[in-house]
Amino acid sequence: MTLLSNTLYDVAIIGAGVAGSYCASVLQKAGYQVCLIEKGRGTGGRASSRRLPMQEEGVQLSCDLGAPFFHATKNQLVDDIQQWLADDVIAPWPAANLAHKGLAYTGTPSMSALTRYLAQHCDLYSSQRISHIDRTDNVWFLRNDSYKTLIKAKRVIITAPAAQTAHLLTSPDAPNAWLQQAHIASRQCAPQWSAVVSDGTEASKSMLSNMPDMLEVDHPVLAKIIHDTAKPGRSTNSAGSSKPTGSSKPSRWVLQANLEWSELHKDSDADEIGVLMLAAFKQLLSEQEDSDLDLTQPELIIATPHLWRLGRHQPSSDVSGKVEEQQAGMLWDPSNGLAVSADWLGAGTVVTAVLSAQQLCQAMIDGDC
Ligand SMILES: Cc1cc2nc3c(=O)[nH]c(=O)nc-3n(C[C@H](O)[C@H](O)[C@H](O)COP(=O)(O)OP(=O)(O)OC[C@H]3O[C@@H](n4cnc5c(N)ncnc54)[C@H](O)[C@@H]3O)c2cc1C
Repeated sequence: MTLLSNTLYDVAIIGAGVAGSYCASVLQKAGYQVCLIEKGRGTGGRASSRRLPMQEEGVQLSCDLGAPFFHATKNQLVDDIQQWLADDVIAPWPAANLAHKGLAYTGTPSMSALTRYLAQHCDLYSSQRISHIDRTDNVWFLRNDSYKTLIKAKRVIITAPAAQTAHLLTSPDAPNAWLQQAHIASRQCAPQWSAVVSDGTEASKSMLSNMPDMLEVDHPVLAKIIHDTAKPGRSTNSAGSSKPTGSSKPSRWVLQANLEWSELHKDSDADEIGVLMLAAFKQLLSEQEDSDLDLTQPELIIATPHLWRLGRHQPSSDVSGKVEEQQAGMLWDPSNGLAVSADWLGAGTVVTAVLSAQQLCQAMIDGDC
């Protein structure tokens, strides 16, 4: 028996990233019997925290290698943000506020906290990849690679990145126009490398002490540098300050590579990428410090370079670098109970993933009234 549950769910959601977890939360509250099926180990998708190969005081460390925060303008997600702040699953992080994008918020104690919170009351099946969907007698069958049925449901919501959604939409029971749309969107998806740097010695701590906590750079290798341990709810030094100088604990910095460089190096070895990203970081540091650093000194330790192969959705209207339009869409066919909700139906951000999920849930609930 391969079925993960004998329940015939009202709604099965493929993917437990922001869009999927948000749909699960809203639909479950509206009285639907909902499940989430996720190929990864936990929730979060590209807004998840990753375990690091290091411990602190016996505790396995993790950090936000995907979306480090999200921005919302004063009119966006107002009620949700109030609720999430009240429930301590997000916190403002003024260091990352950007005039053209709005206020920055991060999950606490990690980005995964938000999706864990949203998915908390739903059946979550993790480490399960859905490879095929098909429909017989008004029931959707969600199948694995071996074509074994894992879940049965009256409705299905796909929330995977565009390329993975396109694969699922090859089902003969899915509208062909959606498949075309997902194919086009998958060509607008860019890979992105990210890695974490830890300061090992007092010398490296003092080197980093003048760095801003969030820095967007115009550099051939790097795009953004984020002081992960300075974010609210992360470990701080004994004095409670987020600044690394004088701290007994190492602080961690996430390096995000620029998208063109990531595309060029998408097939490179992770160790090689680590060396290149660390060298770029040291070069930036020396410019920041206006001093000559000895780049051979192993004071900074780089770990876990990770390639987000389907990392960033870059809609064509967004390449101007101007104000990001936080618009979103969704796909919903009430006649066969199939839907798609994801960031790639908008500008490719956490907020557009939520907006897409909001629209879909509203349409589903309204249609059933
Ligand atoms: C390095 C990086 C930095 C970023 N920075 C920012 C930022 O600063 N601000 C911002 O707003 N956004 C940022 N983003 C983008 C943001 O992370 C995404 O827009 C958002 O998380 C997308 O959410 P989603 O639910 O649409 O998709 P996803 O997070 O991709 O969720 C889809 C889920 O579906 C699962 N899945 C896929 N296929 C299957 C299958 N066949 N079966 C089962 N499960 C499946 C995946 O494992 C995944 O968990 C960043 C992304 C990256 C990679």
